[in-house]
Amino acid sequence: MPAGLRIPRTAIRDNRVRIHRSRLERDVYEIVKIGDPVLRLAARPLSSDEIQGEAIQQLIAAMAERMREAPGVGLAAPQVGVSVQLVVIEDRPEYIERLSDTERREREREPVPLHVLINPVLSVEGEKSAVFFEGCLSIPGYQGLVARARAVRVAALDERATPLTIRAHGWYARILQHEIDHLNGILCVDRMDLRTLTTLENYDRYWRAGR
Ligand code: ZN
Repeated sequence: MPAGLRIPRTAIRDNRVRIHRSRLERDVYEIVKIGDPVLRLAARPLSSDEIQGEAIQQLIAAMAERMREAPGVGLAAPQVGVSVQLVVIEDRPEYIERLSDTERREREREPVPLHVLINPVLSVEGEKSAVFFEGCLSIPGYQGLVARARAVRVAALDERATPLTIRAHGWYARILQHEIDHLNGILCVDRMDLRTLTTLENYDRYWRAGR
């Protein structure tokens, strides 16, 4: 990646991030990894005008592409180095087909179509929690057990700046909690039982139940 195309850290700190056309070139939206300070910042909200502007529309398209390439079920803007409150989510049927029936049932995992959440506000619904192995595209190669609320409600704007409310349970609720955490500078390792941290290889070898 040409150094000149990186978003200057000072701009991120000052919340003056501007997205230029040059940053939309493929190589520029690399997924940043744990240790990059942008993952620890509180992302700033977007205005309706910004959401409808070309820069954010192009960012959304680029993030959706990156998420599918990875592949992942969610991606937050800070994960591509842009500290704004925007996430894309998609849990495709083909990802779920790879799971055993037991894994699918226990995780309450069902397909979720591609959608965009901007300035999301999450609240937990009910008392139930669920504990499952979870990973992050910014912490590649590892998973660990993370306890999450089983059901949540999210109020947000969509890609047209239209307000929407989502009620979610099961795996979709987990994805929402994980991605919205990113907007607050929180990573799944912060919530993880670190004694369960495992490489993906060892997860498949020792910990993946119900195959
Ligand atoms: Zn993540």
